[in-house]
Amino acid sequence: MSGSEPSLLEVRDLRKYYPAGGGLFSPRRFVKAVDGVRFTLEKGETLGLVGESGCGKSTLARVLLRLEDPTSGSVFLNGEDLCSLRGEALRRRRGAFQMIFQDPYASLNPKMSVFSILEEPLKLHTSLSPAEREKKIADLLDMVGLDPGYARRYPHQFSGGQRQRIGIARALAVNPEFIVADEPVSALDVSVQAQIVNLLRSVQERTGVAFLFIAHDLAVVEHISRRIMVMYLGKIAESGPAGELCRKPRHPYTAALLSAAPDISKRSLSRVCLSGDVPSPLDPPSGCRFHTRCPFAKEICGKTEPELREVEPGRFCACHFPL
Ligand code: SF4
Repeated sequence: MSGSEPSLLEVRDLRKYYPAGGGLFSPRRFVKAVDGVRFTLEKGETLGLVGESGCGKSTLARVLLRLEDPTSGSVFLNGEDLCSLRGEALRRRRGAFQMIFQDPYASLNPKMSVFSILEEPLKLHTSLSPAEREKKIADLLDMVGLDPGYARRYPHQFSGGQRQRIGIARALAVNPEFIVADEPVSALDVSVQAQIVNLLRSVQERTGVAFLFIAHDLAVVEHISRRIMVMYLGKIAESGPAGELCRKPRHPYTAALLSAAPDISKRSLSRVCLSGDVPSPLDPPSGCRFHTRCPFAKEICGKTEPELREVEPGRFCACHFPL
């Protein structure tokens, strides 16, 4: 997936398993929330990550940001393995990777003014003087389209969209190289969603920051991403350039997600309907994890797990019978 330039981020065979019972007289069991994920993220790129809730997207985000330790695997940022960092070394590198949260209200401390919220990471990760911090905070608010005069206000004095702008300013404060945006617009009114997506695009043009943009809605992800990864039960089912993947999905699960998108009638795609719920990651189906819900499943699908393989240049798909 990478070009000749080294990738900003390279994720190799990342796994996050949670113990879930078993022990002395029965085999130990694990929830395999992330199970062998690999991908690259290039400098200044937006990579979309989609899947139903419970597919492992948010766990993947937390492990990438070292909010949780992986069970195994590596995350290289500019060639440095983030998974090997501990203590002070990890704290010093934290400025390079930031997060924008789904709920802009819950993620902002209601007792802190906007100024204090934005000053906190600057104090932690930079050696700016108080005057320089004040100037930086004004610049950040300006960059996200808020009046710098609002700096002394508190989160409850802002609308949902404005609060998300504050969350974006906080993530940008220490000039990160990549940001994980975890469902950053799904808690917002539809009318505000496009404004926030457009803000993220303009911020990227100005700063060159790379985004991993997580959402359950393919239409939102398609709008902002250069490439998209589709995740199902802890694994990548399909990845490829955003436009091609949404125009001509190769994995039946991607086709089903697109069929559920509200603007399906505008696309010349056959409708693929999903049946049943996402199976438990504690006891995932054998073979292809999607076989219990796939309308194209054949006998081999329940027995042999398909590898994620390149089915056409730049298109990767984990299916025995790509569409
Ligand atoms: Fe469906 Fe089989 Fe492909 Fe899995 S491998 S997505 S069950 S056709």
